[in-house]
Amino acid sequence: MSYYYAKGGDKIGPLTGEEFGLALDRGDVGPSTLVWTSGMDNWKPFADAASLFPARSPSAPSVPAASPVSAYPAQAENPVSQPGKQACAECGGLFDPDDMVRHGASWICAGCKPLFLQKLREGVGLRSAMNYAGFWIRVAAYLLDWVINLVLTVVVTFVPGLLFIGDDSGIGGLIGTVLGAIIGPAYYVFFVGKYAATPGKMAIGLKIVRSDGSRVSYPRAFARIFALSLAAIPLGAGLIAVGFDPEKRGWHDRICDTRVIRK
Ligand SMILES: [Zn+2]
Repeated sequence: MSYYYAKGGDKIGPLTGEEFGLALDRGDVGPSTLVWTSGMDNWKPFADAASLFPARSPSAPSVPAASPVSAYPAQAENPVSQPGKQACAECGGLFDPDDMVRHGASWICAGCKPLFLQKLREGVGLRSAMNYAGFWIRVAAYLLDWVINLVLTVVVTFVPGLLFIGDDSGIGGLIGTVLGAIIGPAYYVFFVGKYAATPGKMAIGLKIVRSDGSRVSYPRAFARIFALSLAAIPLGAGLIAVGFDPEKRGWHDRICDTRVIRK
């Protein structure tokens, strides 16, 4: 029978039962260390697969006749500082810093690293990874959209009148008026819902997302237009707030749980 364990991203093994017992004695294998032996379909934390592995060697000191499973969590529950060791922020076990990764002020052991990285990917740590776009760059994107909208509005307002020239019913003017009124919101909802950015924001490399980084739905994009108008009413205070918020939120971003980020 051969046994393996993971240490600092490396696979250690094949080991005999006796060698594995020694690794346990040394503390190289703890409850969260990923281990594998034949008959397992995947690597698992030692605590979940201990029955398939040899126990600590009988000569090991200070272990009363207990299984490794019960012996090790006892250590994990008491992360008292040991010289040269760090407590894992996930499992609480004590490990050599050489075998751990550092994330901010936290240390993560090799065994917990895959799970920890998965958590990060799933958004737990995403907030700090987002690059929020500030006030002036958003003003620049807004001005671009304003120019594009102005051109679009002129076109959709006057083209129907030209198409119905000679028609005295006024239908051309009516169509133009209706289109002119809805083009702005339609432009905004379509582009934000479909591409997460208006053409102005796209040109500058900005994106509107939810606070957790997920996409903004069409209804939310629609609601954000009205929230935007609301934020602009008190002398633009809700928009200027972007410049003073740690996550660069305007009031409309707070109302709609959105953030503007750089791609
Ligand atoms: Zn750990």
